[in-house]
Amino acid sequence: MRIVLAGGAGFLGSHLSDLIISRGDSVVCVDNYITGRQANVAHLLGHESFELLEADICGDFSVDGDVDAVMNLASPASPKDYYEFPIETLDVGSIGTRNLLELAKANDATFFMASTSEVYGDPSVHPQTEDYWGNVNPIGERSMYDEAKRFSEALTFAYHRKHDVAVRVVRIFNTYGPRMQPTDGRVVSNFITQALRGQALTIYGDGLQTRSFCFVEDEVRGFLALLDSDETGPINIGNPGEFTMLELAELVNELTGNAAGIIYEPLPSDDPKQRQPDITQAREKLGWEPTIDLRTGLERTIPHFAEVLGL
Ligand code: UDP
Repeated sequence: MRIVLAGGAGFLGSHLSDLIISRGDSVVCVDNYITGRQANVAHLLGHESFELLEADICGDFSVDGDVDAVMNLASPASPKDYYEFPIETLDVGSIGTRNLLELAKANDATFFMASTSEVYGDPSVHPQTEDYWGNVNPIGERSMYDEAKRFSEALTFAYHRKHDVAVRVVRIFNTYGPRMQPTDGRVVSNFITQALRGQALTIYGDGLQTRSFCFVEDEVRGFLALLDSDETGPINIGNPGEFTMLELAELVNELTGNAAGIIYEPLPSDDPKQRQPDITQAREKLGWEPTIDLRTGLERTIPHFAEVLGL
């Protein structure tokens, strides 16, 4: 398969590029580097199955040759990043997604949309099943991301119903691993960076809010299981292991030997109180489930941060 991968130089996109190439398929990586980085795919440059195209999918861009699948991973995805780029986030979820759907349609290719657990907002159903419609504040501080992804899902299904485009929609839960940016503001990046520097870890709010963290290699394996299936989704791909931020902080401090403890800072508005994927569909329809628990995944991630930070 020749796969156009938008956002291919991002954290998830670069790991997905690796997996696609390792199984013998090829990648046309499209990125505008708003949050992605060429360094994430530097090891793939020159590989015969890897093409790199610097372009904004919201603007004019074209891909020559046959295309078998179009995968849309393009978007700022960390809260810190989408707070900084709110309009770009809405544009990429609307105009960018539409341009990629047109590309898929023109090539009779399968379209894969990377959606998010954020479509569930601050969920009142727990764990989250795919049939839950969510609890999203349409004008809240996270709305540029939540609503962009919800719009992307709607547009994807409109092309599927109106134009018969083959589609796959994945809802991604919190993912971590090597190549996360130490400065992206996410909880895993912040905690590991702080711990390696011997600083207290910053807990926002009371630390009793939960997230469920999936190691990146498990996550991207799930993407290809969905792509290869006949399922449209939406389908949750995430690790159901659920932790409070206090538990995460304790684990990071233990694994890094950090004795500086924790400090409390204000909770950002509309911060979801709980999040855990129900992955029954992924298990039953895709035969996928995660294999790497949080402790193991953090043990693999911490050395990457130490190297990047020179610590
Ligand atoms: N968080 C925290 N300390 C930090 C960064 C984040 O306690 O230094 C909290 C944040 O308020 C949220 C959770 O950790 O409740 C996950 O935040 P993140 O930005 O990683 O992802 P989200 O799931 O909110 O998109």
